[in-house]
Amino acid sequence: MFDVAIIGAGPAGTAAAFDLLTAGASVLIIDKVAFPRKKACAGGITPKGIQLFQYDISSVIRRVCRSVKIRKTNKQSFLIQSDNILCYMTKREDLDAFSLNEVIKKGGQFKIAKKIHQIHETSTGVQIVTDIGSFKASYLIGADGANSRVRRMVIKKRMWQQQWALEADVLVDHPEQYKMEFDFSGKHKGYHWIFPKGDHVNIGIYSIETRKKLRTQQLFEYANHRFGTQMGTQSLRAIKGYPICTGRYSFENKRILFAGDAAGLAERLLGEGIYFAIKSGQDAAKAILEASKNRLESAGIIYHRKLKTMQRDLSIYNLGAHWFYRFPNLSLKMVSSSFFHWRFARGYAAGKTISRILFK
Ligand SMILES: Cc1cc2nc3c(=O)[nH]c(=O)nc-3n(C[C@H](O)[C@H](O)[C@H](O)COP(=O)(O)OP(=O)(O)OC[C@H]3O[C@@H](n4cnc5c(N)ncnc54)[C@H](O)[C@@H]3O)c2cc1C
Repeated sequence: MFDVAIIGAGPAGTAAAFDLLTAGASVLIIDKVAFPRKKACAGGITPKGIQLFQYDISSVIRRVCRSVKIRKTNKQSFLIQSDNILCYMTKREDLDAFSLNEVIKKGGQFKIAKKIHQIHETSTGVQIVTDIGSFKASYLIGADGANSRVRRMVIKKRMWQQQWALEADVLVDHPEQYKMEFDFSGKHKGYHWIFPKGDHVNIGIYSIETRKKLRTQQLFEYANHRFGTQMGTQSLRAIKGYPICTGRYSFENKRILFAGDAAGLAERLLGEGIYFAIKSGQDAAKAILEASKNRLESAGIIYHRKLKTMQRDLSIYNLGAHWFYRFPNLSLKMVSSSFFHWRFARGYAAGKTISRILFK
C-alpha cells in the first residue's frame, strides 16, 4: 500500500511526487511509456514556471530568451525586449526524463503500465488495476494529460474544452540567429510560433478553434513559407500534435485528485500549460498532506480551495483569448504599446501571474 499513487509522469505528476516524497510519503508513479519519451510540446517555460521547480533544471535548458518577436502581418512585426529572461527553452523529453529521475532519486517507485483497467475509490483508499498488476494507495493523482484515461474512467461528464497544437523541430542554418517568435499573421484563430532551441528551432501552430483539428500539411506550408521551399518535409523532424485541455476543475472525489492537463488546467490565450501543471501538482500534494494530518476535511475539498487563485487566472486568460482572437488587430496594437511592454513584459519576466500583473 502506497500513500499516494500518481498516474502520469509529466510535469504535473513529477511535481506532485517530488513534494510528497520530500514530506516523507511513499509514492508510486505510473506512466504508460518508458522515459525519455517524446511529448508534443514547444518546451517554453515562463519565469513563473521556472520558480516552481524544487531542483536545478539548468542542465536541460537549451536557450534563454530576453526578447520576443511578435508578427502582426507578413510585413509588420515588433519586438518586446527585457533585461530579464522572458522564457526558458527546453525539450520536453529531456525535462521530463530529468524530473522523473529526480523523483526516483528521492525514493519514488516508477512503473510502466500500458493499460489502466479499473480504478476503485473507497472511504479509505484507491485501488488501481493495471496490465502489470493491482496497486493500492491512500490517494490517487490523475496526471495523465489532456486525454486522461483516469478522468474518463472516474468522471463521466465532460467539463473541459480542447484546443489543438502541432509542433515539429526544424534544422536550420544558424539557429542562433532566430528569436522567440509568436506569429499572428495566419488566418486561423491562434498563432504560429518559432522557438529557438540551440542547435535547431521548434515551430508550431496553436488554435483555439475547438472543433477544427490541425493538419500536418499546415505546418509544412508554414515551414516552407518561413524557411524557403527547399525546407521540404524531410527537414521537419518528429511532427507531433496533441490537444491542450482548458476548462473548469469541478471534480468531487475525496481521494482522487486531478492535476495539469488531465484537469483542464492550461490557459487558453497562448496554450501555456507547464506552469499550471507543476503548480496544480504541487497543490494536490499539499492538499493530500494536509488532509492526512487533519482528518476534518477531505483532500478533494482542500485541493478545490487551493486551486481558486489559479482558476481565477485561467478565467482571465479565457476572457483574454475570447477578445484577443475576436479583434486581433486592435489587440496586437495594444500589445505593441509601451504601456504593455512596461507592465506585462516586466511582470512576466519577474515571474508574476496574470492576476498579480493586472491587479497588484
Ligand atoms: C504542441 C504543443 C505545444 C505546447 N507548448 C507549450 C509550451 O511551450 N509551454 C507550455 O507551458 N505549455 C505548452 N504546451 C502545453 C503543455 O505541453 C501541457 O500543458 C503540459 O504538458 C501538461 O502537463 P501534464 O503533466 O499535465 O501532462 P503531460 O505532460 O501530457 O503528461 C502526461 C503523462 O501521462 C502519461 N500518460 C498518458 N496516458 C496515460 C495512461 N493511460 N497511463 C499512464 N500514463 C499515461 C503520458 O505518457 C505523459 O507522460 C504545449 C502543448 C502542445 C500540445
